[in-house]
Amino acid sequence: MLLYLTSFFRTFAPMQFQSVIGQHHLRGKLLQTVHDGRISHAQLFWGAEGSGNLPLALAYAQYLNCTHRTANDACGVCPSCNKMQKLIHPDLHFAVPVNSAKSLTADKLITDHFLPQWRDAVTANPYLTEAQWYEALDIENKQGRISVHEATRIIEKLNFKPFESEYKILLLWLPERMGHEAANRLLKLVEEPPDKTVMLFVSEDPNHIIKTILSRTMPVRVPPIDTPSLEAALQQREGLTEAEAGKIARLSGGSYSRALTVMRNGRQANEFFGWFALMMRNAYTAKFLDLFEWAEELAKTGREKQKNFLLYAQRLIRESFMLNRSAADVVYLMGEEEEFAQKFSPFVNARNVEGIFHALNLAQEHIAQNGNPKIVFTDLFLQIGKLLKRS
Ligand SMILES: [Zn+2]
Repeated sequence: MLLYLTSFFRTFAPMQFQSVIGQHHLRGKLLQTVHDGRISHAQLFWGAEGSGNLPLALAYAQYLNCTHRTANDACGVCPSCNKMQKLIHPDLHFAVPVNSAKSLTADKLITDHFLPQWRDAVTANPYLTEAQWYEALDIENKQGRISVHEATRIIEKLNFKPFESEYKILLLWLPERMGHEAANRLLKLVEEPPDKTVMLFVSEDPNHIIKTILSRTMPVRVPPIDTPSLEAALQQREGLTEAEAGKIARLSGGSYSRALTVMRNGRQANEFFGWFALMMRNAYTAKFLDLFEWAEELAKTGREKQKNFLLYAQRLIRESFMLNRSAADVVYLMGEEEEFAQKFSPFVNARNVEGIFHALNLAQEHIAQNGNPKIVFTDLFLQIGKLLKRS
């Protein structure tokens, strides 16, 4: 999943303001604090997942230490920017929730031991989600946390003078994953930070940040991304058409990561859509020999994929039926799905919708219970053929 995004973000200089999606008003406010020399020592960037709180904090950090900044952005080419963009700047420190599938001692569970993975994950996708990060760490169902050892490490690091830039910056991602003990250890640092120190807390859930820390940070509210900016980003960065981008943007609640998930699910669905159309056309025109041949092909694909296809088909049947009932506004279909469903919906009606749905559902159960896929699909096609005749 991360690899998928790598190519695009590498070409977009991930840490500058110009590559943050939308948030024009907030960008302006942040820039103004630097121009006015009102740089707060402990700031809390908080906004929902995918709003861009992490890219904004990174852009702000880069801007602070850029030696050739313009009124609107970091230069992107000075030695400081260069290192910031690779996340290897000696004055940019990270503390993020970590964990390991291996049984490491507690003192090993600190960000320093996971920096290569963190750099890869964030440069590939500054809109990294917590779940994607845990996926990159390969920790399955464990949750990451920011430990007391991490807090100790932070204090050590921030008590150094900056190595080469004006500010030393701590970016602490997801302070809500920090326990009481760790938070208490950091308290004094947040209250009285050493000179030229900026702490950027980046949170999705400030309600779960320990109050004593929360009350000592200056809030920077990151709102959902405005729809036009989200649409434009999907067109420019993902090559979507205006119509596709518009539809996805409206479904994404101002979250770029959610938009990407919706888009990916859509692409997965493309292949399934082809299968669905083939199944329905051939079943309707009673081309059963073709279908039996195809059942053999289908049997060779993985069981998980067969199951997902049957789930997808149930959704499409449901949506086609809704179209038939003219409840078009509750239907969520994309491009060719919608076109097909429009033509196909007259054939899905009150007399057969339940039967088709049930047949698909049963086939899915049989596949899950290790039924022979060739037999399951052959049987399914025959049943659907019969049911469509009732339309
Ligand atoms: Zn620069």
